[in-house]
Amino acid sequence: MDTKQLPRRVPASRQTASALFLRVELGAEGSSYDEVLPYFLKGEDNGEIDDVGTAYHATGGPMSVERFPYQPPFAAAILNASVEAGFGVSEDLNGAHFTGFTIGQASNKKGVRRSNAAAYLRPIRHRSNLHISLNTTVTRVLIENNATYGVEYYKDGEMSTVNVSREVVLSAGALKTPFILKHSGIVPKEELENFDITVVKDLPGVGENFHDHPTFPVSFTLNDLDEYDDSWAVAAEYLTFRTGPLSSTGLTQVVGVLPNNDTTDEWPNVQLNPAGYQSGCAPGEIDALKSSGKRSVSISVGWQHPVSRGNITLRSSNVTDKPVFWGNFLGEQEDVDGLVSGVNLALKLAETDALKAWNLTLSTTTLSGCADYDYPSDEYWACAVKYDTAFGHHYCGTAKMGNSSDSMAVVDPQLRVSGISGLRLADASVMPQVTSNNIAAPVMMIEE
Ligand SMILES: Cc1cc2nc3c(=O)[nH]c(=O)nc-3n(C[C@H](O)[C@H](O)[C@H](O)COP(=O)(O)OP(=O)(O)OC[C@H]3O[C@@H](n4cnc5c(N)ncnc54)[C@H](O)[C@@H]3O)c2cc1C
Repeated sequence: MDTKQLPRRVPASRQTASALFLRVELGAEGSSYDEVLPYFLKGEDNGEIDDVGTAYHATGGPMSVERFPYQPPFAAAILNASVEAGFGVSEDLNGAHFTGFTIGQASNKKGVRRSNAAAYLRPIRHRSNLHISLNTTVTRVLIENNATYGVEYYKDGEMSTVNVSREVVLSAGALKTPFILKHSGIVPKEELENFDITVVKDLPGVGENFHDHPTFPVSFTLNDLDEYDDSWAVAAEYLTFRTGPLSSTGLTQVVGVLPNNDTTDEWPNVQLNPAGYQSGCAPGEIDALKSSGKRSVSISVGWQHPVSRGNITLRSSNVTDKPVFWGNFLGEQEDVDGLVSGVNLALKLAETDALKAWNLTLSTTTLSGCADYDYPSDEYWACAVKYDTAFGHHYCGTAKMGNSSDSMAVVDPQLRVSGISGLRLADASVMPQVTSNNIAAPVMMIEE
């Protein structure tokens, strides 16, 4: 954040590729790096604090964060390749040196993954002032005279309500929070012209500004047995020691954060996330091969500063109908160009001696829809990203935070829904702009 000056680092990662740092101005007072850093630290229990230090990391929080105990040998080759390609290696992408490749810290403790529920909720589930209702779907927030008084929900085949005395904190994620808000009447009023929903508050930003990190996989083969990475021996090792391939996520724990030619190390905009060597059970036979050919791996190219925006709208006034998602990925040419620039960084990595030693070879399978273009060329990739780009699973922005001058803001800097008392949002929907990398830790910071 604080983007007008040098971007700053934010610690705490959640998953394999979680070299997380929140480099964007969240768009409201109180969201500067220095102001949110304590909330990152509060959530973190870093198992490698002696390595990463206390400037950007902490111990004692609910979420265990450390490297997995196991890395496939090819991971080391990628780090060597990164040095050779001039990208460099960082011991801690959430620390002082935030570009290059690293083996990322992830939400796990000694090879056992840690979910948010396990970290935050399970330890306090017996508190007398906490009731957890499983298999329950919230359908509406109940509001009268612009004040929140309860929540409507569906459970065991029937609708019920619960009243609140202070406030509701809605945290259904960037896809469902705007859906619930809209059914509650907090909605751009034009959208309701055909629906039987009463407008409680006309907020044009609800459901707008939907975006994500578009991600495109570049496929390779390499000289290694194309075997299933799980076996009885691997299972026994994990069950006994919590080590070995089952204690990790294969190559996805390797992550590179890089600037393309349009930016600098201070504001990197591409994430390269290798994939392969993930756990997979052999079908019956011990030491079975997936194929007699070479092993496949990929490098997922993530475009971290997307400008295209989609939205989430209602299909009907029926709360059980699914909403309509319009992703609008790559709607702007800038995002196509960004992905292509990232593909070129992946190819540069693949061209290194360190990876050639494994005979890393770009896949020759091409997309038929792009057959008019030379392979590989920028024109081909610009075509291919339109066919094969996927979600980064970092959906956000659909009820964004902003100052009172921003007519599209849905919540204020304290995350209170504009014009409605007793209703707060706390999830990825409030991010005005997606963070430069994976968003789980920033979301936890917001929720803290
Ligand atoms: C496959 C996948 C892989 C990912 N990998 C990574 C990663 O490696 N690193 C990373 O940083 N991030 C990763 N993410 C992203 C990260 O998980 C999300 O960005 C983050 O969880 C968003 O948090 P949230 O609180 O906004 O929403 P969520 O985590 O989606 O939480 C919303 C909760 O609300 C519940 N809910 C929704 N609607 C209702 C309703 N009507 N009633 C009751 N409950 C409801 C949902 O069941 C869910 O539990 C990944 C996401 C996916 C899907």
